[in-house]
Amino acid sequence: MKKIDEILTEDIRSIAIVGHMRPDGDCVGSCMGLYNYLKDNYSFDVDIYLDDFASSLLFMRYSEQINANTDKTKAYDLFIAVDCSDRQRLGTGSEFFETAGRTVCIDHHISNQGYCEINHLNADACAAGEVLYELLEEDKISKATAECLYTAIVHDSGVFQYSSVTPRTMEIAGKLMGKGIDFSNIVAKTFYEKSYNRNQVLGRALLESVRLMEGKCIFSVISAANMEFYRVKPKDLDGIVESLRNTEGVEVAIFLYETNAQEYKVSLRSKDAVDVSRVASYYGGGGHIKAAGCTMHGSVYDVINNLTKHIERQLMEGSR
Ligand code: AMP
Ligand code: MN
Ligand code: MN
Repeated sequence: MKKIDEILTEDIRSIAIVGHMRPDGDCVGSCMGLYNYLKDNYSFDVDIYLDDFASSLLFMRYSEQINANTDKTKAYDLFIAVDCSDRQRLGTGSEFFETAGRTVCIDHHISNQGYCEINHLNADACAAGEVLYELLEEDKISKATAECLYTAIVHDSGVFQYSSVTPRTMEIAGKLMGKGIDFSNIVAKTFYEKSYNRNQVLGRALLESVRLMEGKCIFSVISAANMEFYRVKPKDLDGIVESLRNTEGVEVAIFLYETNAQEYKVSLRSKDAVDVSRVASYYGGGGHIKAAGCTMHGSVYDVINNLTKHIERQLMEGSR
């Protein structure tokens, strides 16, 4: 018996699938993959909830069903949280957590402490889509489900580039390709293609980036005024921090965008020497060793000063 059948016990009729705030490709792909899988093989009353996300991901089958339920008092038999490291980071639909009969989490964040009753966690998996794949029955995965799971894995692995990718990741990707998906188009359209405005903001962030610690650290900031000027939303800023990390000599990249007066969303990426999930956790956030985030208060100067203190300490420890 596959693990999914241990979760889908006989007493279950209704299911809510919920992702994290500001959902990325892994979150949308794994939530939609699970939704498609349940729709294809079972007759549950399933609802899926997600915050607003990149329009390039709307190609996934049933995406018009997202947030379709308007009954806020609905109590689900089962609540499944996907790609979300803690209770507070659940996005749209988080209100159904409390009233659900049972809660299940499918995730790969090292900072996940297991906030659900059943937790399928694997911090060695490169994407939540990979953790989910391992729970499913291979011959029940349709082409539509495979498209979602492939997108999830592509996005969290940087197109199979990051060190989180394992031989198993490639095996799973191969199985999904075997379902007849247009993998090349998925990568081009959802990962690399960006609107003109998104590319302009990326250019601006690179142009105004600043190096610290003899070039080992780099940071850039986009103000709320700039976001308005380029007419971009937070979801349009994905990928900027990865571009900063690609700078030669850089160990840690920091990207901030202003969410409110004196409040910044922080994205951290590292190459090898620094565990950025430790840095983000210190400020109430979390994530993975090489990709983490948090929200911080104060001026840009305060935020950078506080972050670099921790980064510098880790770099010193490593060089001893
Ligand atoms: P981001 O920089 O927002 O792309 O996030 C990088 C990684 O850190 C992702 O896996 C996020 O899920 C995680 N992360 C970002 N922000 C937070 C936060 N405030 N709390 C916990 N995890 C976070
Ligand atoms: Mn995610
Ligand atoms: Mn993920």
